[in-house]
Amino acid sequence: MLALIKTGAGPGLALETVPDPKVGIDDVLVRVERTGICGTDLHIDAWDAWAARTIEPPLIVGHEFVGEIVQVGSSVTDFAPGDRVSGEGHVVCGKCRHCLAGRRHLCARSIGLGVGRPGAFAEYVVLPYTNIWHHWPGVDPEVAAIFDPFGNAVHTALSFPVLGEDVLVSGAGPIGLMATAVVRHAGARHVVVSEPNPFRRELASRMGATLVVDPRERDLADVMAELGMVEGFDVALEMSGNADALRSAIDSMAHGGSIAMLGIPTEKVAVDFDPIVFKMLTLRGIYGREMYETWYKMTVMLQSGLDIKPAITHRFGFRDHEAAFAAARSGDSGKVIMDWTAAREAG
Ligand code: NAD
Ligand code: ZN
Repeated sequence: MLALIKTGAGPGLALETVPDPKVGIDDVLVRVERTGICGTDLHIDAWDAWAARTIEPPLIVGHEFVGEIVQVGSSVTDFAPGDRVSGEGHVVCGKCRHCLAGRRHLCARSIGLGVGRPGAFAEYVVLPYTNIWHHWPGVDPEVAAIFDPFGNAVHTALSFPVLGEDVLVSGAGPIGLMATAVVRHAGARHVVVSEPNPFRRELASRMGATLVVDPRERDLADVMAELGMVEGFDVALEMSGNADALRSAIDSMAHGGSIAMLGIPTEKVAVDFDPIVFKMLTLRGIYGREMYETWYKMTVMLQSGLDIKPAITHRFGFRDHEAAFAAARSGDSGKVIMDWTAAREAG
């Protein structure tokens, strides 16, 4: 099969022919139709310090996908060829305290698809059946392709109650954009999106932001005054990984407010703990998705009218992977999708 591979230590990815994956007794083999490019894939492509200490080439990259099951292992009874599915990208151990208690998102031994095991930027991908999500009828195939990052957005956005609350979203990358639509759908009052990139601010408005702000030009106290907010934000979703964004969120919270932290800082962040203590804030780290409550919530919110499709801005055939990665890297994009169906037609 054709697959997009990190062939050795250093920048770049190559489209190469590799053996088809082997299907174990508990595995599901999926013919990939569409994939989404994640920031993780950009890190692996660029071969930054994180990638250099984490990735062992050769590796097929990618973890956001939708496709069709073509084969199941002999122990698999709940899935069948023809099912349209996506994969949960965290393969958990299944044996630890949290896994056994059903809190699989807290497994300390989870292995990432396209990070610690062969990924989904390929004609075929294999996963254990416990990592497969069977899409309900009617889910848009492009939206299905990005259930993984959509799940990051939903997991973060719903980690604290937002009904009637004022919510700050820091960072309008693909995940912040989707989270904006989610908190709006979930009944937030004001949704303020802070984002330096004008292309993404414009998209955030389309996703339902009450107000978008360039943090370099205007501070949040000013925004709160315009909206008639008295105390501060009830909930903040940190989706930038930027130290200044985190500090200004902490400073702008109402007493008793909660910050869900998804963004991954690229360096250590110095934080003033005074406002955290005296305002009695809650800070919660968010990693991945809850298996499979988040997946259920994504599905039913789509059924009840949530629209995240405007967050998808670019589409490429898989052979144009360099252009696709360039679009994702540029920042002037939301989610970038690669289509793998042409591989099947050609082959
Ligand atoms: P992204 O890098 O595309 O988006 C981050 C956005 O933050 C960018 O648009 C950037 O312009 C903006 N930003 C930069 N400085 C800012 C500032 N001072 N204030 C406000 N915004 C600022 O990333 P993404 O794919 O949307 O993911 C969001 C974050 O979540 C990233 O940090 C990513 O690494 C992280 N992530 C975490 C998990 C997890 O499980 N915890 C999973 C996926 C991604
Ligand atoms: Zn575990």
